[in-house]
Amino acid sequence: MSSTVDSPGDAARQPLIALLSGAGISTDSGIPDYRGPNGVWRRDPEAEKLVTYDHYMTDPEIRRRSWLMRRDGPALKARPNAAHEAVARLARSGVPVRVLTQNVDGLHQLAGMPDRKVLELHGTARTALCTQCGARTPMADALARVTAGEPDPKCLDCGGIMKSATVMFGEQLDPEVLGAAVTVAKSCDVFVAVGTSLSVQPAASLAGLAAEHGARLIIVNAEPTPYDALADEIVRDPIGEALPRLLADLHP
Ligand SMILES: [Zn+2]
Repeated sequence: MSSTVDSPGDAARQPLIALLSGAGISTDSGIPDYRGPNGVWRRDPEAEKLVTYDHYMTDPEIRRRSWLMRRDGPALKARPNAAHEAVARLARSGVPVRVLTQNVDGLHQLAGMPDRKVLELHGTARTALCTQCGARTPMADALARVTAGEPDPKCLDCGGIMKSATVMFGEQLDPEVLGAAVTVAKSCDVFVAVGTSLSVQPAASLAGLAAEHGARLIIVNAEPTPYDALADEIVRDPIGEALPRLLADLHP
């Protein structure tokens, strides 16, 4: 398990709750589903190029448009909603909680979840990184350079191409983050999948893994998912109402 993530071991007296969140938890915060099968990017091939690694790395015009898309998009301005806050509240109450998220918006942490308890499977849009030397910088700083007139800001350390610290199409998930998520899925007692169609792999398979290892699987999603047959409980109600209620019931 990653050293940046708390070991659930010491808290074994209390059931460990894993929460896998997808785009649906952030729609109440004004962020549309970008990456899902019916997401913004998948429906628009030109937009998809902006977040596809090969296009991004080889075409300066794609990079220019990609930075503008990040600057003008809703992700960095968004605020956590009732669902993010309910998760953070549960963690604050002393219940061992780990968040595995397919989202890159950082809203779980803004709601108060400690960084070390959040595994961002697809990275974070709040950071930019250098593809050459790996240097990381706040996305806000990179975007300020865009606004100041640099169409494609380069790494200040080495001059390399910078990109959002998100996993683009054509990139692999960070094996360390995925490995830590697998460990959580195998060891948790309750696995709540919320706002995810459970169709983007390998993140979706975490739900199946948790169920195989004996976790109670709860799916909170408006639409059916491929894992519904494995679920102990399925909730179709709006997430902003359903999740706070559900998590309050899990509180000791
Ligand atoms: Zn660099």
